Amino acid sequence: MTDLPRRVAMLAVHTSPFAQPGTGDAGGLNVYVVQTARRLAQRGIEVEVFTRATSSSLAPAAELAPGVLVRHVTAGPFEGLGKDDLPGQLCAFASGVMRTEAARPAGYYDLIHSHYWLSGQVGWLAADRWQVPLVHTMHTMARVKNLALADGDDPEPPGREIGEQQVVEAADRLVANTAQEATQLVDLYGADPGRVSVVHPGVDLARFTPGGSGGADGSDGRADARAVLGVAPDAALLLFVGRIQPLKAPDVLLRAAADLLARRPELRRRLVVAVVGGPSGSGLREPTSLIRLARELGIDDCVRFEKPAEGDALVHWYRAADLVVVPSYSESFGLVALEAQACATPVLAADVGGLRDAVAPGVSGELVSGHDPAQWAAHLEALLLDDARRAELAAGAVEHAAGFSWDATVDGLELAYEAATSTFARPGAPVASVR
Ligand code: UDP
Repeated sequence: MTDLPRRVAMLAVHTSPFAQPGTGDAGGLNVYVVQTARRLAQRGIEVEVFTRATSSSLAPAAELAPGVLVRHVTAGPFEGLGKDDLPGQLCAFASGVMRTEAARPAGYYDLIHSHYWLSGQVGWLAADRWQVPLVHTMHTMARVKNLALADGDDPEPPGREIGEQQVVEAADRLVANTAQEATQLVDLYGADPGRVSVVHPGVDLARFTPGGSGGADGSDGRADARAVLGVAPDAALLLFVGRIQPLKAPDVLLRAAADLLARRPELRRRLVVAVVGGPSGSGLREPTSLIRLARELGIDDCVRFEKPAEGDALVHWYRAADLVVVPSYSESFGLVALEAQACATPVLAADVGGLRDAVAPGVSGELVSGHDPAQWAAHLEALLLDDARRAELAAGAVEHAAGFSWDATVDGLELAYEAATSTFARPGAPVASVR
């Protein structure tokens, strides 16, 4: 007898595990779902991921990996709906999930793990109906985001805050990415601290490596990657990877780069700022607004805008960079920071949220308070002009990232699932359907 589930219904309403991360609504959540679902299945826990169908050509169910099935639920039109439109489709989505379960043998799913508050709403209903535990991961929280908005960014609506509050109350267990997020769940949403598990996300340590000879300074991997990407061996390469949205603050990097060039005009010949990712959300919706900003700042000759990178391309970018810059206003964790470090690239990140865990300041990179471009430029200048310091940080980065494997994440999830199951009790519930 174990309290581990045999089959988990994982809910990811607003974005599919098949979507390319780094554009639109796809980002770290997608990577998290893929990486954890695969590993849970390898450990004998089957996973079915329910996501909204966004094309008529999708099969109702498709295998993502052995033991991981993605179910495409029809809820509203396939195209033309943004994330903000989805609260109106939750009833349709929940109904699709219910119909799927009703067609299975009784007690088919032992546990529900919902990702993001929209999924939590559906998970709340399904857990109640099926009498199984609900485990929920927020990924981002409206009350946290609203405390740290970028200039001109739209606040998250009260409806989301209320919806999140309901999910916090309904969940048998909440999984927080960091101790700080656990505290925010308690302080801002009134979560019971005894029902919150802290489980760090991870990085695919087999994929994100320094490359080349595998030396800790990453020098060979860097040269190879630059040759592939067409980046000069002596370039000073600053890299931003992620969705183009105000919260991620790619504009702060561009402004800081302009400031840096004003201080050090001799760097212009070799400075390259690469922005890898696609548009998402409001404000900086179009990367064209960033292109315009680069032109206004007079640095467009130094900036490369790259479409969302997949496969080896992403790894090449991380290896090629001198520094990865993560100037976000708010970040639940920041997988990009971990991936860069695993590739032996130091990170200059904002001193916010999960980046405080993802980066070890002084060891694998540096944290910057605030978003004043002049201050960011000062950090960039100091690090770019000090090769020895960057080499030290590169070695520290590989070591720091090594502490964040997805296997460790799944160890933590298994403990959270066990805790949710062992404490599970619903009024009028029969026995929990865990064997
Ligand atoms: N990503 C990608 N290609 C890109 C940009 C980003 O595959 O061009 C991935 C990146 O590798 C990371 C995820 O998108 O795993 C972003 O996660 P993060 O936690 O940094 O930010 P989020 O998108 O969740 O806010």
